[in-house]
Amino acid sequence: MISFQQVEKHYGDFHVLKGINLQIKQGEVVVVVGPSGSGKSTMLRCINRLEAITSGELIVGDYKVHDKKTDINEMRRDIGMVFQHFNLYPHKKVIDNITLAPIKVRGMAKKEAEEIAMYYLEKVGIQDKAQSFPSQLSGGQQQRVAIARGLAMKPKIMLFDEPTSALDPEMVGEVLDVMKTLAHEGMTMVVVTHEMGFAREVADRVVFMDKGQIVEEAPPGEFFSNPREERARLFLNRVL
Ligand code: ADP
Ligand code: MG
Repeated sequence: MISFQQVEKHYGDFHVLKGINLQIKQGEVVVVVGPSGSGKSTMLRCINRLEAITSGELIVGDYKVHDKKTDINEMRRDIGMVFQHFNLYPHKKVIDNITLAPIKVRGMAKKEAEEIAMYYLEKVGIQDKAQSFPSQLSGGQQQRVAIARGLAMKPKIMLFDEPTSALDPEMVGEVLDVMKTLAHEGMTMVVVTHEMGFAREVADRVVFMDKGQIVEEAPPGEFFSNPREERARLFLNRVL
């Protein structure tokens, strides 16, 4: 579903991604961990070409992301993304936040888009907030709206960039629960997170990045109990 082959990326003179090779199968849940500044967000953002790669090959489904000829808007319909800071439209009601893209991008009728929005709001447990504005919701509720908004586009892949990092501790669980449900339903997911409990429980594979490289890649059982690389060991000692 996602394939990085010898991917390099530079920001000007700064070499941010170095020789990235990563294959993710349909239905797989891959959790990306690593120190701040190691390139996790950049790698994630390359998948839907929010960032362009410098060289190598990056393939998502049937699309060559690295190819300038690829219709990126078409490709992005298949990829939902959830950010640390929810990124909801503050002046739009919850339901309108969710129906906007299906109506504008997929050309869906308003009534159908609203039915789909309500379905996903119910799925994330906040159908009663449909007519509220984002500012009237808690952080955890806003993030669940952001997830519902992503799902309403019926993506094949969901990308999460530290979705719980901006939340008060008591709200982290409700967002992780929604993500767990998605994972169990077979969604292909790439999740950057510091929630090691989530990684341990839900990931099929943990990818550890440091200084722009994938240093280690292993099933969570192996990664957490017996990391092979010294850098991974040091990182785990700091965060666990
Ligand atoms: P992480 O998500 O692991 O914290 P990032 O991918 O955000 O890491 O950043 C990796 C490195 O690239 C950091 O050193 C960061 O300062 C740098 N960086 C990120 N975005 C940009 C940008 N748009 N321009 C220049 N440097 C950037
Ligand atoms: Mg980041």
